[in-house]
Amino acid sequence: MHLVTFRKGRSQGRVGAIWHEAVIDLAGVAKDLAVQRNEPARGRGFPKTMLELVEGGEAALARAREAFEAGQRLVDAPGSDDLAARRLAYPLAKVRLLAPITPPRNVFCLGRNYADHAAERGAAVPEHPVYFTKPAACVIGPGERVTHHAVTKELDYEVELTAVIGTGGRDIQRGHALRHVFGYTVINDVTARDLQKRHGQWFKGKSLDTFCPMGPVLVTADEIPDPQALAVSLRVNGQVRQSSHTSKMIFPVDQCIEVLSQGLTLMPGDVIATGTPDGVGAATGNFLKVGDRMEAEIERIGVLANRVAAP
Ligand code: MN
Repeated sequence: MHLVTFRKGRSQGRVGAIWHEAVIDLAGVAKDLAVQRNEPARGRGFPKTMLELVEGGEAALARAREAFEAGQRLVDAPGSDDLAARRLAYPLAKVRLLAPITPPRNVFCLGRNYADHAAERGAAVPEHPVYFTKPAACVIGPGERVTHHAVTKELDYEVELTAVIGTGGRDIQRGHALRHVFGYTVINDVTARDLQKRHGQWFKGKSLDTFCPMGPVLVTADEIPDPQALAVSLRVNGQVRQSSHTSKMIFPVDQCIEVLSQGLTLMPGDVIATGTPDGVGAATGNFLKVGDRMEAEIERIGVLANRVAAP
């Protein structure tokens, strides 16, 4: 499933799944199914947020799948015009997508996880994974503006495959690690290079408001059996700046999870951005300007587009 968090009109964020050019409202369809079966109202509750769905484990995912399949039949049926009025599905163009998991729990990130990127930054290939975090509060959705804050003159982009933890745990073995992944999305790890340098640790330069675009969809793990087999790219105003492949990661996703979880409990809804390949602006001095449009793309997931805006 290509899961989304979406807003229709002034509604709160709702959990949906994309089918063709429609967004199926999973809670709406689940309720419809329950009513048809005369289930008691008590048992009809469907996860209200993506985080609740992720925390709900296999049972919640099974209910989401059932609603998705029923929703597909509704969308595909001839004369399905009243689905929006019945709050079962909407045309994709008529809803606003938010970050798929809003807010996530922890936003863990990998630094220097592609050898070509380490080299372009003049850094050695690390012996152990390099981890840092971004605050969950700087996460924004697809189409939202990234602010070019006055404090930086070196605004940069980084496209990254991002794993969303489904089943939490500590001391997760590499061989089991991918079973802990609920799904995958795209993060643009927006970075103020001058602040990253100035403050010693990377936290400040990577944590300004709006510096974590995420989305557009959260693809369930069953659709991405091998996270190391995905093309990764980023365009600025249509020009390709980053073009690589997740097979080039130094530490693959399963190892990132294994090492991060050593003595540290991962929680459902934690996200792990797995590092960016070469081609960042810092390598050429070609930094982002107000008005620039970034498109971060990962195979099998989609395109996360965000424009840079003045404060
Ligand atoms: Mn990064």
